[in-house]
Amino acid sequence: MAEKTQRLEIVTPERKVYSGDVRFVVVPGVEGELGFLPDHAPLVSALKIGVMKVQEDGRTFKVAISGGFVEVRNSRVTVLARTAERDNEIDRERAEAAKARAEQRLAARTPDIDVVRAELALKRALARLKAIS
Ligand code: ATP
Repeated sequence: MAEKTQRLEIVTPERKVYSGDVRFVVVPGVEGELGFLPDHAPLVSALKIGVMKVQEDGRTFKVAISGGFVEVRNSRVTVLARTAERDNEIDRERAEAAKARAEQRLAARTPDIDVVRAELALKRALARLKAIS
């Protein structure tokens, strides 16, 4: 018999990134990683910038997200993210360039630098690179 699955939807304001039946999902919760198997208890949690792991029937893939929310109920996992990219759509050069830019800004720390903004940009770039590492 096929193993039990749950529905996963990953949505951003721009697009539906993923919709499918999966066995297991791990998301970057603000207080640590959260893993969901089918029939998980209902839950809502905020998500930080990080990497999701998705286990489909025969394969596993990763998704970089830049914060948002997850809702779980009735074997449905819905991720609403600010941005989300599957590993196979991440542009490595773009993420490397964003990382270098943010690191330069943080190293310079001139008065015109928005430190929090640069730190967030760095985290997004690192999450994208981790998703494809
Ligand atoms: P950059 O400075 O390269 O734009 P960013 O972190 O500021 O990076 P975001 O504002 O998080 O970019 O995302 C803007 C849009 O570009 C989103 O649709 C996001 O999915 C996409 N995106 C950002 N970086 C990448 C990447 N390395 N590969 C693929 N898509 C990306």
